[in-house]
Amino acid sequence: MKSFDVPVVYRSPLISAIKKKRKEEDRMKKDFSPTVLDFGPLKIYLARHFGFCYGVENAIDIAFRTIDENPGKRIFLLSEMIHNPQVNADLRNSGVQFLQDNKGTQIIPFETLTADDIVLIPAFGTTLAIEKKLRDIGIQVEEYNTTCPFVEKVWNRSEVIAQKAYTIVIHGKPSHEETRATFSHAAANAPSVVVKDMQQTVELAKYILGEKPSADFYSEFKGQYSEGFRVEKDLQRIGVVNQTTMLASDTQAIADYLREVMIKKYSLTDETVKEHFADTRDTLCYATNDNQSAVMGMLSAPANLAIVVGGYNSSNTSHLVELCEEKLPTYYISGEEKILSSQTIMHFNFHTGQELVTEEYLPSKEHVSILITSGASCPDAVVESVIRKLVGFYSNTKTIDQVAEAFQ
Ligand code: SF4
Repeated sequence: MKSFDVPVVYRSPLISAIKKKRKEEDRMKKDFSPTVLDFGPLKIYLARHFGFCYGVENAIDIAFRTIDENPGKRIFLLSEMIHNPQVNADLRNSGVQFLQDNKGTQIIPFETLTADDIVLIPAFGTTLAIEKKLRDIGIQVEEYNTTCPFVEKVWNRSEVIAQKAYTIVIHGKPSHEETRATFSHAAANAPSVVVKDMQQTVELAKYILGEKPSADFYSEFKGQYSEGFRVEKDLQRIGVVNQTTMLASDTQAIADYLREVMIKKYSLTDETVKEHFADTRDTLCYATNDNQSAVMGMLSAPANLAIVVGGYNSSNTSHLVELCEEKLPTYYISGEEKILSSQTIMHFNFHTGQELVTEEYLPSKEHVSILITSGASCPDAVVESVIRKLVGFYSNTKTIDQVAEAFQ
């Protein structure tokens, strides 16, 4: 894969050495067992894959290069470039201004932009309507576009499904930038509807099966269907794509469920199912797959708790948390500063959207084991600082340098 110029402040010598060694030993990425960092009284199981993905490194590289190459120019980001507070703060401190928040609420009006300004499109991509607005102002959208190629792949997949006259069902978070962008591209080619989870999919199925009056669809799925959507006609042939960062098992379950619904509705067989249901695989990206598989691989390790590091609005990070919390106490933190002491941790409950404080999160045992991973937009340097802080709570430990030696 292409390598990118990412500010060294986001790198961690320890984690770079570990990743390099693991990659050399497992070029085909078949081994999802964690890396064990044995500090003595504290053992850390570090996921096989975590941290910056292709799309995030690409976006960071383009953004900081754009700042360096354009002194004196006004530089804007459509919204958060990636869902990481440190990276976004660094961009703000370099003079970059944000046009929208991550829910699409305008912070700076488009009308104040001029053709001389630079607008960076984030890794999630953007809607066709926003692209047009920027072009109409005279802004060069292509030159500063950091849309991840794996997101564009989903748009291409939607187009293929649309060409075969299927309606596109998008499994994603309706307000997430990427899902809004994918919805916009899909809706340009075919009727489209977003489902956020299995519960909503079950409700959608009731319209497919005629178990609910069509008129109710428009209020129930408000803001999630394309203009001119006709319930009776547009739910006869469907195909599923998804936001690249959803939970793999959720998307699979939704696609399998909708397939069965179509089989039931139209009395189809395995041979004829294609008449009403597009045969597609999920559109999760490689990083989502690798990171989720690495968590599954890590969960068999005998650990007392898990710490997942990432921005609180990061979809892919929340799914790693979801996997961990099924198995053991899990703390979702945005950085080492959330570890207040060896007794107290401040962490995010993404189900309720609240930050909580938990006491005695570290067991008072002679030997403690912790699973650690991070989301695709979290710098490795942040993970290293979390490890350093935890190690600092114990005495008679090996130093980070001593542990790192095994990976040189
Ligand atoms: S998580 Fe996947 S789709 Fe999103 S930016 Fe990273 S590589 Fe691209």
